[in-house]
Formats: sequence, structure tokens, C-alpha cells
Amino acid sequence: MMTTGSVYDVIVIGAGSVGNPTACSLAQAGLKVLVLDRRPAAGQGENKAAIGGVRATHSDPGKISLCMESLKIFSTWKEKYGFDIGWKPGGYCFPVYDESTEKALKELLPYQKKYGLNIDWVGPDEIKELIPGINAEGLRGGTYSPEDGQASSIRAPLAFQREAIKHGAVYRFNERVTGYLRSGEAITGVVTTKGRYAAKWVVLAAGSDAAEHSTLLGFDIPVQPDSHEAGISAPIAPFLPPLVVDLRPGPEGKTANFYFGQNKEGQIIFCYTPKELFPGTNRESLSEFLPVLAGRMVSLLPRLKNLLVRRVWRGCYPMTPDGVPIVDYAPGLDGLILAVGMCGQGFMLGPGVGAYITSLIVHNKPLISEEAQSCLRYDRNFYEVKEEKLK
Ligand SMILES: Cc1cc2nc3c(=O)[nH]c(=O)nc-3n(C[C@H](O)[C@H](O)[C@H](O)COP(=O)(O)OP(=O)(O)OC[C@H]3O[C@@H](n4cnc5c(N)ncnc54)[C@H](O)[C@@H]3O)c2cc1C
Repeated sequence: MMTTGSVYDVIVIGAGSVGNPTACSLAQAGLKVLVLDRRPAAGQGENKAAIGGVRATHSDPGKISLCMESLKIFSTWKEKYGFDIGWKPGGYCFPVYDESTEKALKELLPYQKKYGLNIDWVGPDEIKELIPGINAEGLRGGTYSPEDGQASSIRAPLAFQREAIKHGAVYRFNERVTGYLRSGEAITGVVTTKGRYAAKWVVLAAGSDAAEHSTLLGFDIPVQPDSHEAGISAPIAPFLPPLVVDLRPGPEGKTANFYFGQNKEGQIIFCYTPKELFPGTNRESLSEFLPVLAGRMVSLLPRLKNLLVRRVWRGCYPMTPDGVPIVDYAPGLDGLILAVGMCGQGFMLGPGVGAYITSLIVHNKPLISEEAQSCLRYDRNFYEVKEEKLK
């Protein structure tokens, strides 16, 4: 197989939540970008499983910094480029019913505020205004962060791809990267099922498949997917501004946190984290998901008891051992950047990751602080116990 004559500045492996906005950001900065994806269109991997929550209110400085950048991009997209990505401001709300969660969330606030996040504790009356009809029994209050929001994981890929193409990016679909071109200790391109392409930089943004590249590259990429189910209802009259995260364990003992929101079209979109995780990439829907979810949703918000659910689906969180992504230069190899292990937050992280990688490649001046960068490094200790309470 011949190497293509055209030498790119950057090859992005994966047109997903991360690769697609990264390609867009790099192309906007004037680089010649090639995007390769094994699937037939952008955003068809884990991206389309995301329910579209976008928040910067994490407790890890790396995630906070990247998502603050993402929020700037999501919230201004329509006004800048005229394309509707389903952005809905309205914030995130974590209602609280028990003392220990109240204590944990309150303890986190000074830390979150230190990073400039707009988040505060609000009393039960304000929560009742934010989430009309919420079960008031035992409600103690909760946190509210008005600058967070939601966007459509179906519309956003199209928006990023269009903008990238406008700036000269080339997308090649149904083409899997199967190897790398090397020169000494540098990656100089990729081998695919259809050809070979040379580039100064390669960005690996392969989502749940990232670990497959460990053998190809000769170092471990600690990303293991586990699967999660979600669903969406028929539209109902708008009543719910924020995305809601219920941290209580579900009454049936099968669920950890449960989160949902009402999208711009009025549909309720929802997801829960099972208490016992499902490792692997099985995407078959489970018969227990909807009954468990329905019970949980109605116990929090009884007015949803007649909600018509239209569709459920399953996708994966590409997990790292510590729940924080890896966005860093590859160990021991020049020319390769890892943007993997986005866990349950790759949709909200994607545009920020793209801006950060652009700052590394184009401006040689990192967009985020040294502290934030250190959280995202490949060579960090993945098994150090962290205080990441809002996964
Ligand atoms: C039910 C559910 C709800 C979620 N809700 C949210 C949410 O509200 N907010 C949020 O931020 N996140 C959410 N997530 C998480 C989010 O979907 C993921 O973190 C994110 O999509 C991962 O982005 P990625 O770019 O790493 O992977 P992907 O979006 O999967 O992109 C990787 C791409 O790489 C391609 N690829 C892989 N290997 C190769 C190869 N060798 N050659 C060529 N192409 C390749 C794949 O085809 C894919 O398109 C949710 C996930 C699930 C399952």
C-alpha cells in the first residue's frame, strides 16, 4: 500500500465526542487535518449514547478546566455559526435528601468556587422552583450551577464536522486505523484498512476502542469500557430548566446516581448508573432498565408518572482507573497525543479537549494550568484515591 501523497499536519483517529471537535478546532486554527473513523459518520460511537449534559461543576481541576472551555463553545455556537446544536441553558441541580450528601456537596463548594465555578447551595424552596413537582418529603436543598446546560449529541457532531470541513478538514469514514508509521521514536502517520497517511501529529481519540492501540503502540492505554443504558420520552410542555442529578441510591438497590433533563424539544432524556457495573461493550438493552428507571424517576418527580417513553439505548463509558481522562503526549513517542478515557463525560469534555490540544500543537502554550494538566497526564498514579465525588 502506498502512503498518500498528501501530508497532513494532524491526523485525528476517531470522529467522536472528542475527535470531531478537536479536528474542528485544529482546522479553524489553520492546520491541514485528516479525520479517520471506522464507522460510517461522525458521532456514531459512544457520542450518540450521551444524553447531552454539559457541566463544568466537577471536583477534578483537569475536568473543570476543560469543561469550562467546552461551555464557552457549546453556549455560543449558534450565535457564532448559526447552527442549532440544541443548547439549552438551565444549569445542573443536585437535590439532596440526606445529611451526609449535604455535607459532602457543601464541602466541595469552596473548592469549586476557587476555580471560578458558579455553583451554590440553595434551600428546598428554590429547589422546588427549579424542579416543579419534586418530591418535597425530606428535601434538604441542593446545589445549583446556573451556567451549566445541555446540548444535543445528535446535532453537535454535524455542527463540528461542517465547521471543520469549512476550514479544509478531510473526513474519511468506514476506515479503521490498524497501525502506525514510525521514524525512530516518532509517530509519522497511520496505516488503515484502506491506505497509509503521513502527518506531523496524530491524535488518538478512539473512545472505547483506545486500549486496542496498546499493542500497536507498545505501551498500556488503561481504558476499559463499561456499559450504561439511557432513554428518551415523547415531548411534553417545557417545565424543567436544569439537568437533575439524584445522588440517592435507588430504592430497589440496583442504581447509584440517576440523571435526567428536558431537552430543547421538550423530551425528557434520562440515564442511571447501575450499582454493579457492566464491564465490556455489550449494547443490548436490558429488560430491567425501564422498570427500575421509571420507579426511580416517579419517586423523585411524581408528575412524570404518565410519561411516554419512546426509545431506550445502551452505550459505553470509556473508563480510566481513576475516572479522569488522559489528555497528554504519548510516553516515549514524539508526534502522538492521547485524548482517551473520557469516562461518562466525553460529550461535555470534547470541545475543551479540542481547544487544549490546539493550544499544545499550534500555540505551544497550554490553555490550562499546570495543576489541571497534571490531572490529565498519562504518567499520573491512576490508583491514588481521589476526592472525585461528582462522577
Ligand atoms: C448512556 C450514556 C449517557 C451519557 N451521557 C453523557 C452526558 O450527558 N454528557 C457527557 O459528557 N457524556 C455522556 N456520556 C459519555 C460519553 O458518551 C462518552 O464519554 C463520549 O462519547 C466518549 O467520547 P470519545 O470521543 O472518547 O468516544 P466516541 O464518541 O465513541 O468516539 C470514538 C470514535 O473513534 C472511532 N474509532 C475507534 N477506533 C478506531 C480505529 N481504530 N480507527 C478509526 N476509528 C476508530 C469510533 O468509531 C468512534 O466514532 C454518556 C454515555 C452513555 C453510554
